[in-house]
Amino acid sequence: MPRFASSEGNPANHIYRHLTHRGYCTTKRAGSTSIRENLQHFSAEARSVKITISPSLNHTPAALRQFVVVFETFFLLSAKLRFAVSLYCLGIESTAHTFGVGVVTDEGKILSDVRDIYESAVGAGIHPREAAEHHSEVAAQVLSQALKESDIPPSSLTAIAVALGPGLGPCLRVGATVARSMSAYYRIPLISVNHAIGHIEIGLLTTGAKDPLVVLVSGGHTAIAAFSGGRWRIFGETEDITIGNLYDMFAREIDLPSPAGPEIERLATKASKFISLPYVVKGNDVSYSGLLTASLARLRSGATLEDVCFSMQEVSCSMLAEAVERSLAYTGKKEILLTGGVAANKVLQTKLEEVAKLHDATCHVVHSPYTGDNGAQIAWTGLLAFNAGLHTSIDRAQVKPKWRLEDIDIPWRNRSA
Ligand code: AMP
Ligand code: MG
Repeated sequence: MPRFASSEGNPANHIYRHLTHRGYCTTKRAGSTSIRENLQHFSAEARSVKITISPSLNHTPAALRQFVVVFETFFLLSAKLRFAVSLYCLGIESTAHTFGVGVVTDEGKILSDVRDIYESAVGAGIHPREAAEHHSEVAAQVLSQALKESDIPPSSLTAIAVALGPGLGPCLRVGATVARSMSAYYRIPLISVNHAIGHIEIGLLTTGAKDPLVVLVSGGHTAIAAFSGGRWRIFGETEDITIGNLYDMFAREIDLPSPAGPEIERLATKASKFISLPYVVKGNDVSYSGLLTASLARLRSGATLEDVCFSMQEVSCSMLAEAVERSLAYTGKKEILLTGGVAANKVLQTKLEEVAKLHDATCHVVHSPYTGDNGAQIAWTGLLAFNAGLHTSIDRAQVKPKWRLEDIDIPWRNRSA
């Protein structure tokens, strides 16, 4: 017996049917309509689909049919009762290269976390339209898989959360459209989530840190933040490119696959010497663009790739560690929380642990499956927002590509923290 009333009741199947079988998300389709039109079309159609219980029963003998109907009713009722005791939130992530869906409970249990990542061509960055097409192609399957793994039928979800920014507009619109469609179809509250807050909340959830200085390092962020007066306040950040961009742009210039952080970390372990590179810290801020240019120049003038990777990683992480130390001394926080994709970097982890030790603080690193972008962190943040009484009406759930984390009130944290 499937968890859903029937395959008709599974929104993922509708998305799959409407977007894939009908060719809406076929990238090579001649004269294809835009993804936005396709998804709007889906959104409109999703509302008109009827849920029918076991249509295959039409060909079954009457007695057996009655038995199955009674059984199904009992099953659905018991499922409803079971799902009534907990809150479940489904989160959708599509801000950049990852289309992810996760389901979490209000106790912070992650029931599912399914992702499909767009891979850019070697030597190229994320192409927003192609990444969006990737997302619309995989959306149905990822959604379906996440629901199946969580063992929660969509009608038992308490809320649907979606990352509406910051990020790439075309990519954000895919997640937003799927979320709006599900919210309208199942009449489930919609919660808009800031992607950066998602990285912070999953860090807090998985490490148990209470009131840390947050170091958010990813493809889209290099920021040092602390909670004060009801919001996360930025104490330091990059003045130009992020640390993730530094690694990925360096890799692209020399035709290494991107995202390149793990490969640069691996190459660095094979280095034989340190090469001097520009180290730019201004107050609590860092600047990485000069380091990128100089690293590429050193490589072109004969330095080995391993030595350049080692030196670039050493300098970029030390710069950040210096800015973090200054912010830690200023705020007096006793915890550091390292989160975001670059949090996986062992050299950065070690440097921040040393900084923490110098100030009698502890250093926490977001647990490894949740360093990169994922739907679970959006779901968890959405649930916190829902419990604080927040929700977004469907017509106001527009994407915000430049949504900054310090612009958001966080009513679920203690204001005076
Ligand atoms: P996110 O945007 O949060 O998904 O993070 C992706 C970024 O993390 C990309 O720029 C990757 O190159 C970077 N990244 C992932 N793993 C590592 C690592 N081990 N060391 C450094 N950077 C990493
Ligand atoms: Mg991210």
